[in-house]
Amino acid sequence: MNYANKQDRKRNSENKVTNNLMDKLVSLCKRRGFIFQSSEIYGGLEATYDYGPLGVELKNNVKQIWWRDIVTSRADVVGMDAAIFMNPKVWEASGHVVEFHDPLVDCRNCKARYRADHIDLDKPCLRCGIKDWTDQRQFNLMLKTHYGPSEDSSSVIYLRPETAQGIFVNFVNAQTTARMKLPFGIAQIGKAFRNEITTGNFLFRTREFEQMELEYFVHPQESSIWLDYWVQSRFDWYKNLGITPEKLRLRQHKDDELAHYAADCYDVEYEFPFGWSELEGIADRGTYDLDQHIKSSGKKMTWFDPKSNKHITPAVVESSAGVDRTVLTILVDAYHEEEVRGEKRVVLRLHPKLAPITVAVFPLVNRDGMPEIAEKIFDDLRSHFAAFNDTGGSIGRRYRRQDEAGTPYGITVDSQTLEDQTVTVRDRDSMEQERVGVDKLEVFLSDKLK
Ligand SMILES: [Zn+2]
Repeated sequence: MNYANKQDRKRNSENKVTNNLMDKLVSLCKRRGFIFQSSEIYGGLEATYDYGPLGVELKNNVKQIWWRDIVTSRADVVGMDAAIFMNPKVWEASGHVVEFHDPLVDCRNCKARYRADHIDLDKPCLRCGIKDWTDQRQFNLMLKTHYGPSEDSSSVIYLRPETAQGIFVNFVNAQTTARMKLPFGIAQIGKAFRNEITTGNFLFRTREFEQMELEYFVHPQESSIWLDYWVQSRFDWYKNLGITPEKLRLRQHKDDELAHYAADCYDVEYEFPFGWSELEGIADRGTYDLDQHIKSSGKKMTWFDPKSNKHITPAVVESSAGVDRTVLTILVDAYHEEEVRGEKRVVLRLHPKLAPITVAVFPLVNRDGMPEIAEKIFDDLRSHFAAFNDTGGSIGRRYRRQDEAGTPYGITVDSQTLEDQTVTVRDRDSMEQERVGVDKLEVFLSDKLK
């Protein structure tokens, strides 16, 4: 759960200035098939995006790396996948029905709507220049719909605003079936929905988004130790994705930013073109979540501590990351323009483990048997690597396309290949080429990717 980040929202969400780099990135994402506007043929839907053929690969790579690092490589974390719909009582117990809102204000003159804490109400409306504000009112950020065939108040249900509650309500199920002992974690990746008053900055603030959340259950006396551990571990995770370390920082929440249940909270932030903004929150939530569900459900949700011979309510250290924000960070950070022999080159310097395509194969020309050799190399490599075979256009244009796709290696079949069974392997970043035997390609690329 992540509504402790009011300051972060305040700093950014009125910042609708899409600067030059963001515009270029949006354009590249459409041109190369990373990200499209949702429902584009009908004029789109505000702040909603679709991941295209390359985008879904990048996004899946992010999720797979997270899942491997947080769940499968660890003995103390198990995964789960909860439904998006939950009994509405969950959101009453969690505090979302009463507390999960932002203050809203309208301009009476032009009907523009603002987050009241994002603007100066002593000044006139930014859109029409007249100062005539309505009273502030609270706007709940949960999206509502009706569940089942009746549309009365008894069928109101929410699209989950976070994945965390699906973990908390399954604490006993997961702990007992996986026979976990404290400290241990339950992790999940899934969609969440928030009816944000203001959206913007491309993938940064959208109403539908995907979360990667870990709830790590600990002995209440050990929560600050585990908070330190997860703060460092999660900060390092972003560095290991190849993101520029100087553009990452940790920011501890001030007392007035903390949600009432959180003892301590840190944000991992990235320096976007629109300013430092939150990628992830890591919080010591104490026993608040389980206590709330114990109180509301009347069920026993404690853990028996064999050392003290007592039932205790575990505390929770939460790591809550955004998939889409991570994808945006990776794209922003990887985007480079440079001049090569008087021409502008756009290149995405994606870490090879993130790149949608690892290796592209090109016949230099479409004759003399080169396309057939390229096809054969492509077939051999595709079972080991994300490979792509491109025969269209001049070799220069094919290199440029793969540079924009972030493909780290390009293999070219040329006339020398016909004589000595070697190909050139081009490095995306240095653009240097070396000759490698066709039969050595798999080992060569595996070494590079280590
Ligand atoms: Zn106005």
